[in-house]
Amino acid sequence: MFESISAYAYLVASALFILGLKRLGSPRTAPQGNVMAAGGMLIAIVATLFHQDIVRYEGIIAGILLGSIIGAATAYRVQMTAMPQMVAIFNGLGGAASALVAASELTRLNMAGANPDAFITVPIALGCLIGAVTLTGSLIAFAKLQEIISGSPILFPLQNGLNLLIAVGVLGLSVLLVMDPSDPRLLWSIVGLAAFLGILLVIPIGGADMPVVISLLNSYSGLAACATGFVIQNQVLIISGSLVGASGLILTQIMCRAMNRSLANVLFGGFGATAANTAIATSASGGIAKSGTPDDAAAIFDAARSVIIVPGYGLAVAQAQHAVRDLGDMLEARGIEVTYAIHPVAGRMPGHMNVLLAEADVPYEKLVEMERINSSFPRTDVALVIGANDVTNPDARENPGSPIYGMPILEVDKAKTVMVIKRSMSPGFAGIENPLFTMPQTIMLFGDGKSMVESLISAVKEL
Ligand code: NDP
Repeated sequence: MFESISAYAYLVASALFILGLKRLGSPRTAPQGNVMAAGGMLIAIVATLFHQDIVRYEGIIAGILLGSIIGAATAYRVQMTAMPQMVAIFNGLGGAASALVAASELTRLNMAGANPDAFITVPIALGCLIGAVTLTGSLIAFAKLQEIISGSPILFPLQNGLNLLIAVGVLGLSVLLVMDPSDPRLLWSIVGLAAFLGILLVIPIGGADMPVVISLLNSYSGLAACATGFVIQNQVLIISGSLVGASGLILTQIMCRAMNRSLANVLFGGFGATAANTAIATSASGGIAKSGTPDDAAAIFDAARSVIIVPGYGLAVAQAQHAVRDLGDMLEARGIEVTYAIHPVAGRMPGHMNVLLAEADVPYEKLVEMERINSSFPRTDVALVIGANDVTNPDARENPGSPIYGMPILEVDKAKTVMVIKRSMSPGFAGIENPLFTMPQTIMLFGDGKSMVESLISAVKEL
């Protein structure tokens, strides 16, 4: 009786996950998709709580309470700009949970003298391995995004060789575990080595390549959950883990395409290996930045017929999305054509700019993806860059010595006038100079994103 009710509940939960995921594809339907997927998770949890094999509820209730309090408090307090770090931590904890469940199931089977077969021990080894890599890899990604450690790649001689050696070692131990599951030392050696491998795999990745590694870790957390689903024979865990694993892999591929890099190149290429050349190249081409005032900008808007607004991470930091929309509306009211250019890795998480601008009710059809908008820049009067840096760096197109050479960018430098709102000449996430700021057609509007946009609004009003 219970079996069939829980199977139906799991079926409903899985359907809700799939439908929710589908709705996450567009900012307009994403909130609804979130609610559907969360509803599916609630159904799955309730159905699992009625599982007949549960012996005692005290530990489960304590875990749910503690986890809910920590989760709700962090989600409530986290700044929008710190969301990527939070996602990284959640991915890591998901991996850790999968590894713990897999390890405790093996311990339980061994204590019961069950001598599990390969159908159980292979997923146990995979759950522990992928889960541990996900945990430590995500912790390093968190530390880089939170700037606890440097975002630059940490490279040392024979790094790829060492990684390969450890990967082969972990796989070898996994084979031994499948052959002799009763030896707990094998299990804990896999967890320990995989955890070390997670650190080593993420430290050489830095700068502009971080979006790829974050989506990859997201995918790993799903794969670990899927493996653990096979360990405890839980269908909803297998399905939800596969969904996370597959969607994470698709996202990884999208991010790789956005960076114009292969996954192997990101993982083993060591971003920044050519950083020294770049410093020379950019300083050689460097000039002096022209600083302007809101009144200068307003005078240029007065003569403009088309403006492309280019948002970046600084827009999120300044929380300038509502002010930007007001400015856009005001320019449109003056007969200027206004569009918003979206780079796939602008900000610090996939879809970051879409989410921010949707929050400010910028009409969805005004957001134009990079491939479509790049051809418009040469006939655009003003490209207004707000808190974007790496995604507008012309070195990616022109300087073979640049670490981001080959990455597709928003070609704002081709607009007749470029206005850049940022607080200083500091580099962006990739830590490299941007020659855009010293080009003759560029005017720097130094200041916080929100207050500068508000000053622009006042200046345009006074025209
Ligand atoms: P960048 O990180 O390149 O640049 C952001 C700029 O915003 C900085 O140069 C900073 O300059 C400026 N800024 C910060 N705060 C403010 C503020 N309050 N007001 C005005 N300006 C501000 O951002 P981009 O969006 O151009 O590029 C994203 C980068 O992040 C890429 O390198 C990408 O690879 C990486 N990344 C992306 C992820 C994703 O999934 N999208 C995930 C992880 C990394 P200043 O300090 O002078 O104000």
